[in-house]
Amino acid sequence: MRFDVITLFPELIEPYLTVGVTRRAFASGAVQVRLWPLRDFAEGPYRRVDDRPFGGGPGMVMLAEPLHRCWQAVRADRGLAACRVPGAPVDVPTVLFSPAGERLSHTVVSRYAQPGGAGAILVCGRYEGVDQRFIDACVDEQISLGDFVLSGGEIAAVALLDAVARLQPGVLGDQASAEQDSFNPALDGLLDCPHYTRPEVWEGPGGAMSVPSVLLSGHHAQIEAWRRAQRVQITAQRRPDLLAQARAQGRLRPSDEQLLRELGYNREL
Ligand code: SAM
Repeated sequence: MRFDVITLFPELIEPYLTVGVTRRAFASGAVQVRLWPLRDFAEGPYRRVDDRPFGGGPGMVMLAEPLHRCWQAVRADRGLAACRVPGAPVDVPTVLFSPAGERLSHTVVSRYAQPGGAGAILVCGRYEGVDQRFIDACVDEQISLGDFVLSGGEIAAVALLDAVARLQPGVLGDQASAEQDSFNPALDGLLDCPHYTRPEVWEGPGGAMSVPSVLLSGHHAQIEAWRRAQRVQITAQRRPDLLAQARAQGRLRPSDEQLLRELGYNREL
């Protein structure tokens, strides 16, 4: 799959493509990323990419024209028509990062992570945002990183690329790793359980702290049952919405329900 990122600051994104476990996905081409410096598509001696907002107010707004020129260049590079017929099916989605978008989640990431998928054209906003006419003409989806305002869409782009990359087959050292993570349907969308490593007893600031003994037992079924119980309990405590979703989808087991009753969580979670 291929992601084209339209940005004023490609240097913010570039380093993330070469470090950590996800670099394998980018280096192998499982997830191709091309960075498109927006200023290269601006005209005039100052290569302007922004201007003052009509109607007054603070800040600057990204010009539609350089964005459109860059977007057309990306599409041409992908062998796609420079213009899309209004109402025609989306060939490659154009995604704008924006606080007004759909919240980035495992579901959204999975949509873009399907091996063999088309990927997307990612547009990173800056300043007060993007001229609405570019959004109306070219953007298919908007994605938000959360209910806060960033200075630009680059961090959101890196978040999406990283999350997509780690879901690609062979990228994580252990194939099952991504499936053991929070939100994954393989774990019924629950949060992850706690993890421990050596030493068995750690002299913490408040005294000796031991690893739960079941994890040292070598009894795989009991370890799995403990981890499941931890996932259910932590999800009930921290994200009751996820637990309710798992229940609505029929993903909670009788043993989970039993545990929740014992812990005093009612069925209205
Ligand atoms: N005036 C905008 C507003 O209040 O919604 C904020 C603009 S912000 C300073 C500049 C750019 O950062 C946005 O165009 C968007 O691309 C990106 N951005 C800011 N917050 C974001 C978020 N929560 N999720 C995704 N992108 C965000």
